[in-house]
Amino acid sequence: MVKNLYIVTPRGFCAGVEMAIKALTWMLKIYDETIYCYHEIVHNDWIVERFKNKNIKFIESAEELPEKAVLMLSAHGTAPDVESQFNSISSIQVNAVCPLVTKVHHEAKKFTEAGQKIIYVGHKNHDEAIGALGVAPESMFLVEKEEDLDQLDISNEDVALLAQTTLAMSEWEPIMDSAREKYPNLNMPRKSDLCYATTNRQEAVINVSSFVDVVLVVGSDTSSNTKALVSTIKNLGKESYRVNTTQEIDSLDLYGKNVAVTAGASAPDHIVQEIIKKLEPEKTEFFENTNETEYFPLPKELRSNITAVSKFLLNIFPDNDVEPIRSINKDRQWTATEALNSL
Ligand code: SF4
Repeated sequence: MVKNLYIVTPRGFCAGVEMAIKALTWMLKIYDETIYCYHEIVHNDWIVERFKNKNIKFIESAEELPEKAVLMLSAHGTAPDVESQFNSISSIQVNAVCPLVTKVHHEAKKFTEAGQKIIYVGHKNHDEAIGALGVAPESMFLVEKEEDLDQLDISNEDVALLAQTTLAMSEWEPIMDSAREKYPNLNMPRKSDLCYATTNRQEAVINVSSFVDVVLVVGSDTSSNTKALVSTIKNLGKESYRVNTTQEIDSLDLYGKNVAVTAGASAPDHIVQEIIKKLEPEKTEFFENTNETEYFPLPKELRSNITAVSKFLLNIFPDNDVEPIRSINKDRQWTATEALNSL
């Protein structure tokens, strides 16, 4: 069907998504009761459906959480006031927020405590932006596009600039340049808020784009970094499509074209593999741009719960070889794909 197919690396699961999927899988293994999860654990339809079919109920507010329920907070980060509402209702709460989102929350807190106003570049209604803006609602101002900066009525002094981790570099950079121009004393974190997974995946598709006619990006409509990959390619004047299932490539005209395939940070690799198979390329090449080695450990509350359960079981059955304590020590070797397959 297609001529040359380039399979791009890095693609798919980032360290934050790996951690969040494994954490929710552990919750299912430890607790018998329904587990509530605030927001989609990661933004992928297939994964959310997989968990829904087990004993996970996704909720969008504290009002939906029954008293004494077991709760997990998603990878996207939770506003502090929402977290404390949940705290007063739940019996057990585990926070699977990505550490790189937590970094932005810390920056928001630090700049606010220093008396700064904060311009936050992000997407309105995105779970991550809602959580971050909730850190300091009185001093943070959402900006989605360059023109929004003109509407801001904040003084020239003491202004800081933060960002959602999953923005397209091509949408972030012009806003950052304009903000620097408007606020010459603008404060920014030393390390960019756009995370390594976002920038690595975008740099990879930019580099592969000169070899191909079309870039397919596997991921859901809810995934901000997936949409950022599509817009990155479109900005280069190339064709790019987001695809969530193999069926979605049926309507695309890919015959005889050179195609690259990548995936957003929350897209499972089996969908990528099914799409590759369906494309029936004349020739396949692997395009490795960066080798990612990042690893984020499971949330500390979960690690201590697993260890406590394991110790308890060991006390009751001292001769038993208790699997959980072995597995948690080997968490680096256990992938989110294996976790999903174990459900
Ligand atoms: Fe963390 Fe980046 Fe992955 Fe989001 S995309 S979960 S910020 S590593």
